[in-house]
Amino acid sequence: MRKPILAGNWKMNKTRDEIIHFSLFVTNRIPDSVECIVCAPYIYLRDLVKRSPDHLHVGAQNMHEKDFGAYTGEISPLMLKDTGVEYVILGHSERREYFNETDEKINLKIKKALELDLKPILCVGEKLDVREAGKTNELLESQITKDFEGVVIDDPKNIIIAYEPIWAIGTGKSADADTAEAACGFIRKVLEKIYSKDISEQIRILYGGSVSLSNIEELMKKPDIDGGLVGGASLEPESFVQLCQKAI
Ligand code: PEP
Repeated sequence: MRKPILAGNWKMNKTRDEIIHFSLFVTNRIPDSVECIVCAPYIYLRDLVKRSPDHLHVGAQNMHEKDFGAYTGEISPLMLKDTGVEYVILGHSERREYFNETDEKINLKIKKALELDLKPILCVGEKLDVREAGKTNELLESQITKDFEGVVIDDPKNIIIAYEPIWAIGTGKSADADTAEAACGFIRKVLEKIYSKDISEQIRILYGGSVSLSNIEELMKKPDIDGGLVGGASLEPESFVQLCQKAI
């Protein structure tokens, strides 16, 4: 019922030549049955949108919550619209940690993205000490509740949430499929509480954190996991294509 998603987060990686090679390589290799997305650095977005096949979707990794203003170095959501991107990652743990992004700010960004028809990929997830203290669900509920405060959902298919335990990101230590499923299922319950069962069942929930060719299939078997948000393993075009093919 929910179309699977494989989204790559390239972070601050790749040159223009590499991006051109990537889009040429993946053309005709990625499956239609999976929503394949790459979230690239701002400077390459326009190029990527122009060069990519229709079924390779493009996203940004962040945006400012205001249309314009004196915010040196920031990128406006209207500028993102100009590039032709469809998606935007919001609230990635690296933004929360290194750029002091609060849930209140992320909430404003989600509202702005939806206002402009950009599809948000909201990241939530706990640090290791929170998990060890048995407070993962408490944190997830708090993040989801604050991030969606006052957000009106017209089309749940345009909202994506990525459960990304911080201890699993870039560490090579993925959450096992049962742990990931428990968290994604809990997120769906929180969405049901805030909105409705119908809405919660249409929102796609991804797992992110050291997803690789060796664990993607196991993760995808779980009913509440609708896809992956992938950092390191999405960088090489061959690996991205295989991840997309396995994310069915
Ligand atoms: C990420 O940065 O969102 C991520 C999940 O990274 P990795 O796949 O490298 O752990």
